[in-house]
Amino acid sequence: MVRAVVGANWGDEGKGKITDMLAGQADIIVRFQGGANAGHTIINDYGRFALHTLPSGVFRDHTTSVIGNGVALNIPILISEIEGITSRGVPKPHILVSDRAQMVMSYHILLDEYEEERLGGKSFGSTKSGIAPFYSDKFAKIGFQVSELNDDEASLREKIKNICERKNVLMESLYHKPLLNEDDIYAELMDYKEKISPYVTDVSSYLREALKSGKEVLLEGQLGTLKDPDHGIYPMVTSSSTLAGYGAIGAGIPPYEIKDVIAVCKAYSSAVGAGEFVSEILDENEAEELRKRGGDSGEYGATTGRPRRMGWFDIPASRYGCLLQGATQVAFTVLDVLGYLDEIPVCVAYETTEGIVTDFPTTSLLKNAKPVYEKLPGWKCDIRGIRKYEELPENCRKYIEFIEERLQVPITMVSNGPGREDIIYRK
Ligand code: GDP
Repeated sequence: MVRAVVGANWGDEGKGKITDMLAGQADIIVRFQGGANAGHTIINDYGRFALHTLPSGVFRDHTTSVIGNGVALNIPILISEIEGITSRGVPKPHILVSDRAQMVMSYHILLDEYEEERLGGKSFGSTKSGIAPFYSDKFAKIGFQVSELNDDEASLREKIKNICERKNVLMESLYHKPLLNEDDIYAELMDYKEKISPYVTDVSSYLREALKSGKEVLLEGQLGTLKDPDHGIYPMVTSSSTLAGYGAIGAGIPPYEIKDVIAVCKAYSSAVGAGEFVSEILDENEAEELRKRGGDSGEYGATTGRPRRMGWFDIPASRYGCLLQGATQVAFTVLDVLGYLDEIPVCVAYETTEGIVTDFPTTSLLKNAKPVYEKLPGWKCDIRGIRKYEELPENCRKYIEFIEERLQVPITMVSNGPGREDIIYRK
């Protein structure tokens, strides 16, 4: 059976923790989209780790970690992450990389940096990991698939020549930067070939066989619904779909295999980078207070170190987030962080130029939207360490149930701390 763990919000919901936890009962964990542009922070018996490319199941030595075809594969980062975890005592994980995954090249990263530099203050808030240039090339059909590393030198060089012709127009005329060199790109590919070959396989066929033999597969999403290029806050989105449905494509499995979708939803909101964020806390002191208390992550992006923008729980955005994911259950995270508040605002609707709306609208309507808040009483205590739902303070349960009723998806897990064991299961 296949389950997906995906983000219902802007990303950083704590998917890494939930995946690491659920990986205990899984056989295979698959990354199906995105690249090294977002990170998962995981705290377990081995320590604290920020992973960008490796699936969050790598700490469970009975699991296989899979990089699917939908991922933007950054080989140097993958290799350094493998070395980084094994050097800290984690047993060498079993890793498979799809032969159909495409590789992030060093020129993608350069182009990303140059474009951000060119746009200055009007940038898209890229993490400069090369993700947008990578996916642009993939769909312009000039990307490199891992399987192409076995092509003969002449055909690889012909493709490189074509790429350099196109990219160097930009390098010269738009960015005024040094030109790409064909030999360097060839050498880069050969270096990648040597590094990645031990891991490469036909992932789709591997997963098909695994499912036939009854294995449990977890799909691990990156970012969240609101960063999806179609359904998110376009254009401040990422370049690959963040939806569970895309798991079928990015892993190469039939869509009907995905039986369970766990939408990870934060008990308040946060976002890294620019874009519409109606329930954002605009008072800097108030935001900093929440950011500071925001778990062990300190609310600074795991990849960029940028302070996250903080906000109150946003029901229109989160319900939409769950609906688009096709959530069958919700894992409600970082609830412990809210224990300091006397009362907690929850955004229940938006006031827009077209009136009050409770359904998440398109970006143009979101631009001038104002939050409509309802205030719920806080519980004013530390809920970490509690393992039974009934033992949570009454106001805390009321907060969960208020949100659950409006999300219209059962909250089956409540996360009250960053560790694996900090979880309350609900029936
Ligand atoms: P991801 O990208 O969705 O995996 O999320 P991140 O790893 O970027 O951010 C989640 C952060 O919150 C990490 O630092 C986690 O350790 C932390 N975290 C996850 N769940 C909880 C929780 O329930 N309480 C607290 N305090 N921190 C949590």
